[in-house]
Amino acid sequence: MPQETHSFQAETKRLLDLMIHSLYSNKDIFLRELISNASDALDKRRFHALTDPSFAGENLQIRLEVNEAERKLSVLDSGIGMTHDEMVSNLGTIARSGTKEFLEQLSTADAASRPELIGQFGVGFYASFLVANEVAVVSRKAGSDQAHKWVSTGDGTFTIEPASRDDVGTTITLTLKPANEDEGIADYTNSWTLRQIVQKYSDFVAYPIVTKTRKPQPEGDDKIIEFEDKTLNSMKAIWMRPEKDVTDEEYNQFYRHITHDWNDPAGRVLTKIEGTIEARGLLFVPGKAPRDLFRPDMAHRGVQLYIKRVFILDECKELLPNYLRFVKGVVDAEDLPLNVSREVLQSNGQVRVIKRQLVKKTLDLLTKKLEEDRAGYEAVWSEFGAVLKEGLIHTPERNDKVLDIVLAPSVAKEGRLVSLKEYVEAMKPEQEVIYYLTSASYDLANHSPHLEAFKAKGIDVLVFTDPVDEMWLQEDPKFSDKSFVAVDSADLKLPEGSAADQKSDASSEEDKTAFKDLLTAIRISLQDDVKDVRLSDRLTSSAACLVSEKGDITPQMERLMRLSGQNIPRIKRVLEVNSTHPAIVKLKEKHSAQADTPEIRDLSRLLYGQALLAEGGQLENPAAFAKLITDVMVRA
Ligand code: ADP
Ligand code: MG
Repeated sequence: MPQETHSFQAETKRLLDLMIHSLYSNKDIFLRELISNASDALDKRRFHALTDPSFAGENLQIRLEVNEAERKLSVLDSGIGMTHDEMVSNLGTIARSGTKEFLEQLSTADAASRPELIGQFGVGFYASFLVANEVAVVSRKAGSDQAHKWVSTGDGTFTIEPASRDDVGTTITLTLKPANEDEGIADYTNSWTLRQIVQKYSDFVAYPIVTKTRKPQPEGDDKIIEFEDKTLNSMKAIWMRPEKDVTDEEYNQFYRHITHDWNDPAGRVLTKIEGTIEARGLLFVPGKAPRDLFRPDMAHRGVQLYIKRVFILDECKELLPNYLRFVKGVVDAEDLPLNVSREVLQSNGQVRVIKRQLVKKTLDLLTKKLEEDRAGYEAVWSEFGAVLKEGLIHTPERNDKVLDIVLAPSVAKEGRLVSLKEYVEAMKPEQEVIYYLTSASYDLANHSPHLEAFKAKGIDVLVFTDPVDEMWLQEDPKFSDKSFVAVDSADLKLPEGSAADQKSDASSEEDKTAFKDLLTAIRISLQDDVKDVRLSDRLTSSAACLVSEKGDITPQMERLMRLSGQNIPRIKRVLEVNSTHPAIVKLKEKHSAQADTPEIRDLSRLLYGQALLAEGGQLENPAAFAKLITDVMVRA
């Protein structure tokens, strides 16, 4: 058969033109593409050999050969090979549907968005023309004696003619463009360069990638230089091996390798996604949080993305939601295009399915740890709890499953951490909601007057101390059908029942009349600080406390807003006073004796200031308050 000349399919030629005109800034990826094709061909040969022994091959490997003098690089594989017709159709067309629309989009898109668009298409083999002036492919299909040679300079046509090849497989020979740093073209005849590229992108390819390197010569020996085969890749894709065959130490070593963390991870999970998409994930929960975990520009977040053992992207944050940004590991997908871009990852349906599975597996891992290794889980929670709770905030990534693994210090258990499940299980029958208090710390909360009635009645309260708690608790979450109620909310209803100290409605009605005038006087004295003054039924030993009405900015939130530099006006809350407290009784007596003295105003301000201090709040003007105290002391 003589040499034939074919034209590329029209779209192919246009795509080639676009590519060569520097759509890719990173030209090294051509080698990744060729090695990936070689690996696919080896897979196919091995697969066919299962049913047809004539496909079996001895030495399934990929070789890189360099001819420095002629500036040639060859990639050889002992894979399945191609027939004449296969070469015409596989190397002369872009076999993907949608190529036409893609090219139309591409030609109308502005230069900046072109690389994003091209990320949606596999241009694999054609990446050769990024670095080569001419590409020759010699291939012999398994089961055939005849080889063919395909040659093109990427100018619109290719030739094809009979050729010979000793063994089944494919040889792709690139006549390299001169190295050019500005264009991102390295010297691909340099074995060190090749080794770097292979180790970066193709380290876990399942076949040996072999090259010949100079054999070290004994000192002073001037014999001819000898060469030896060297395998460049490790081939150890630990996530592909069955879990039972891998030791903990091997997994931990791999973790240390990818994270540069000296410590062992706190947990790991291996997952296999099957069905319309295939992928594997090997994820680790680190033992320690990075220092920049809460900075918006946190440096190292996300997992590594591989496609069929070929390295694609590091720190791929598109594969996990923000609240799992501390999770490390590897995801290896089978059917994404190798040159997938970050933009595509954000919108790709397959990626969404993978992401959902990774989230599920990570939360399952944490749930299991909570159940089986309490101390270990509490350590994880202390590192990452505040981040995990971001998963409860109203965003598209929100996931109520996070509630299952939330821990918070319990007042009834003297600050020990309990899960929401444990809290609910310990609830008394008459209790219908989950009570909580947000505070800067557990100790502050524990001395808060708001807890008095709860302690008296033996009702547990959870304390939430992270800034993020203000946000998710404000969105009316529910855990096992129970709402969350803040113990410092103005409209708090304490559960009826057992409590002996519960005042009867009648006596509180009496109180209301008896204290009416005093409350009015306090209200007038504090009109700049509070929006109302009422009698309280939540206090036992304190004289007064401050409570928030629904929709009010909570004191915790106010504190955070001030910390973040926002200059907000002081939020007015409701002052509740304890009608049985001696200080209030005395104040009432004073007021009945003489209603309009400055003393009533001063004592009201004292009452307000101490209520604020008791809950761990901050006085607006501490010096004025100190002076107020001494004034009262002088008078006493
Ligand atoms: P993709 O790998 O995404 O299919 P490529 O452009 O990389 O796209 O390759 C096009 C096709 O050429 C492959 O699908 C395969 O059929 C064929 N091919 C490329 N390289 C080889 C090879 N080394 N051995 C056998 N077939 C190959
Ligand atoms: Mg390919």
